[in-house]
Amino acid sequence: MQKSVQLFERAQQHIPGGVNSPVRAFKAVGGTPLFIEKADGPYLFDADGKRYIDYVQSWGPMVLGHNHPAIRQAVLEAVEKGLSFGAPTEAEVLMAELVSQLVPSMEMVRMVNSGTEATMSAIRLARGYTGRDKILKFEGCYHGHADALLVKAGSGALTLGVPSSPGIPADFAQHTLTVEYNNLDSVRQAFAEVGEQIACIIVEPVAGNMNCIPPVEGFLQGLREICDQYGSILILDEVMTGFRVALGGAQAHYGITPDLTCLGKVIGGGMPVGAFGGKAEIMRHIAPTGPVYQAGTLSGNPVAMAAGLASLTAIQQAGLYQQLSHNTEQLAKGFKAIADKHGIPMSINYAGSMFGLFFTDVERVTNYQQAINCNQAQFNHFYHAMLTEGVYLAPASYEAGFVSAAHDQVIIEQTLAAADIVLARL
Ligand code: PMP
Repeated sequence: MQKSVQLFERAQQHIPGGVNSPVRAFKAVGGTPLFIEKADGPYLFDADGKRYIDYVQSWGPMVLGHNHPAIRQAVLEAVEKGLSFGAPTEAEVLMAELVSQLVPSMEMVRMVNSGTEATMSAIRLARGYTGRDKILKFEGCYHGHADALLVKAGSGALTLGVPSSPGIPADFAQHTLTVEYNNLDSVRQAFAEVGEQIACIIVEPVAGNMNCIPPVEGFLQGLREICDQYGSILILDEVMTGFRVALGGAQAHYGITPDLTCLGKVIGGGMPVGAFGGKAEIMRHIAPTGPVYQAGTLSGNPVAMAAGLASLTAIQQAGLYQQLSHNTEQLAKGFKAIADKHGIPMSINYAGSMFGLFFTDVERVTNYQQAINCNQAQFNHFYHAMLTEGVYLAPASYEAGFVSAAHDQVIIEQTLAAADIVLARL
């Protein structure tokens, strides 16, 4: 830990909080963040040379595990040809074709550089297409840090949205309605009042930013019906779930067809990439075919496309998603069985290769209020003790965990053995 401590001290001199994205700073769990030297398969290696089994996987994209040889090779070959051209390439055509094939609702695709850009652009398109200003999102869902999306609920479902960060004018937030996840009645109520003004619903089809909360039966289908009834656009934010919950994303897993889909980090295999896409009729409203402006100097970057294409090709191997789901289920159920054995109240959620542990006696956690009412202190203890045992979980109790193809039976068993030691002492 010595080197991480030193690096963190230095980092804080010239980088706000010592990090380039807030959750990395370990504020929620306390202590010093680990500075990472390298990663391979299921492992992270910190600056002091200690190895950890990693369940963050760069916050999701490493479906195949870290430093996958096919992706690394593709990147090296692309680099040989130049880093950026600012002109179209064949790789972008291949990427759009592949995405449309794997996620058929994405008839047309526009590449961007992050999940934030994807959601921000999809919302602008939904507003431009419908000519409406309001959008509806869910409490506890995160869609990146665009102004309209950093908004929390007011005091009731239909009060004006309130900015959740200084720097966002209240005038921007007032168009964002925020209602409870997994509660169709709250959505119906909002639409009954102002449905004709709502351009879109944006939703994480499995919420991964309030720990891991899958949709309850009928929730996503209900959203689809409400959007159809009111002529609103349904945007699935699959930045986390795309190519992760299933090969075709959560939309394939739950059998739901959105109008627009946002993809992020997973599509780049670890490079800074995002994308949005959907019905051709809607997507044609984007510039240059349509009037809704959206652009990016580095969008469709050749190195990023090479990494993404290699990743999306490798994840099509037969049986991969069954194996991921099976291992994730085993891991989550294993945590729960060990917690039960030691008399610690715990609830688990999982979907595909996403999972969440909640220190709570609520049997099934389905919304934000339940998620934030979990025992944070217990989680923080658990977190640091697992770190000592060589297991790296997300450094906050409201983040989902990710299993990769490199997390085999042995790795799962080693993780559960660590949890047994830690939970026995908790
Ligand atoms: N949407 C979801 C569902 C996310 O989980 C995230 C990031 N974790 C984003 C959007 C924003 O993506 P990015 O951090 O790449 O801007």
